[in-house]
Amino acid sequence: MPELPEVETVRRTLNQLVAGKRIERVTVSLPRIIQRPKAPDEFAALLVGRTIQSVERRGKFLRIMLDGLVLVSHLRMEGRYGVYDRKEPPELHTHVVFHFSDDTELRYKDVRQFGTMHLFDWGEELTLPPLNKLGMEPLDDAFTLQAFKKKLAKRTTKIKPLLLNQEYVVGLGNIYVDEALFTAGIHPERTADSIKPAEWARLHQAIIATLGRAVEAGGSSIKSYVNGQGEMGMFQHELLVYGRKNEPCSRCGQFIEKLVVGGRGTHICTSCQPVPRLSKAGKLSRK
Ligand code: ZN
Repeated sequence: MPELPEVETVRRTLNQLVAGKRIERVTVSLPRIIQRPKAPDEFAALLVGRTIQSVERRGKFLRIMLDGLVLVSHLRMEGRYGVYDRKEPPELHTHVVFHFSDDTELRYKDVRQFGTMHLFDWGEELTLPPLNKLGMEPLDDAFTLQAFKKKLAKRTTKIKPLLLNQEYVVGLGNIYVDEALFTAGIHPERTADSIKPAEWARLHQAIIATLGRAVEAGGSSIKSYVNGQGEMGMFQHELLVYGRKNEPCSRCGQFIEKLVVGGRGTHICTSCQPVPRLSKAGKLSRK
């Protein structure tokens, strides 16, 4: 599933390709992608004659800003956008097509068919599902160490599922949580309330640095991810633990291990991220 760096890369490329284009017609061939309004005909009719102003992002959602309306789109597992000339035959699994007045088309293709689209009036999208409960944007200035700790530090649950929960911090998925926890030297099964101040500071920095570098590299192309221009990201070559089971840790040489945390495959170095153990006092500690 695309995470913040991949969605941000799609946003940037799409913004260059579609901003300023006017929608002449919309074709929906898989109604279930359209969540709001429920009727695909109504969805299509609302978009006719609108011009795309820009493409924005909130968490892992794209916000396609039109005059008066906002199209909120989630790619889920394998959703993809691409801009094509009208004459090019559509690829298999193309489910929604936005026909522009300049003979080009924005096509949404989704092999797994899990993607969603919601249409809102301007501003309304932030007050209703699916965007209304989203947490802090980790690449915004408002994501300070203090704000981060305030949201998470007192929780008694494991840190990895907390970081995956989009109600606290948005944009992190399985890849970048593993990378950030490794960079910070924190075991994914540590409970948030066992994490020390210096570790919070390292984790906060690691999240910002990892996501920032991944955005610069155009995201990670692990399965089928490509940007809005059909290009692969490059950050998969820079991943330190994710997908590197049985390879030596870049920091200490010990082999990377894979375990399951909160139902998710998790990559760690047990030397750089010590396993939490019960101390004599019965409290969790690092050693
Ligand atoms: Zn290591």
